[in-house]
Amino acid sequence: MAGLPVAQVVAARLRDVPDFPKPGVLFKDITPLLGDGAAFGAVVRDVAGRHTGSVDVVIGIEARGFILAAAVAFDLGIGMVPVRKVGKLPGTTLSRSYTLEYGTAQIEMHADSLRPGQRVLVVDDVLATGGTAAATCELVESTGALVAGVEVVLELGPLGGRARLGAQPLHAILTV
Ligand code: AMP
Repeated sequence: MAGLPVAQVVAARLRDVPDFPKPGVLFKDITPLLGDGAAFGAVVRDVAGRHTGSVDVVIGIEARGFILAAAVAFDLGIGMVPVRKVGKLPGTTLSRSYTLEYGTAQIEMHADSLRPGQRVLVVDDVLATGGTAAATCELVESTGALVAGVEVVLELGPLGGRARLGAQPLHAILTV
């Protein structure tokens, strides 16, 4: 694996699961990537390497984003903040609703987790329609903190998430 482009490492360790969690969805499963220590390490170092010294905190989006964000934050030597589905965080929260293909969803972050001016890296596994990542960026900016980057392992290009993120600086290791 040593020396292979990280996109190739990722591509070889994603599993397509048809009709999960509901009919018509092709789920991109990152657990084979997480289960391979060398590959997982390569991804974490790749993401962290783009932001060394230029971010103050890493946000992970529930749930698989937590796994990646925690490892990236550890590698960078900085803290990690979870953005969760509604009703999961115990403290006072800020929340954002956003539209899904059918219906709406809501995410929350502890109100005291970011300070104005902090540079924030947002991390998730998959960018699909971009609604979750865009709402997360809005939450960050509502605190006066700055979105320094949005990092995903996989971007599902045809779903238009990149456009929904507007000018936010998005990097995807692999786009399909
Ligand atoms: P979206 O808001 O549409 O960009 O959806 C992003 C969230 O849903 C991310 O947290 C992903 O983990 C998850 N997600 C959406 N579509 C998929 C998919 N096809 N495979 C795996 N995860 C997905």
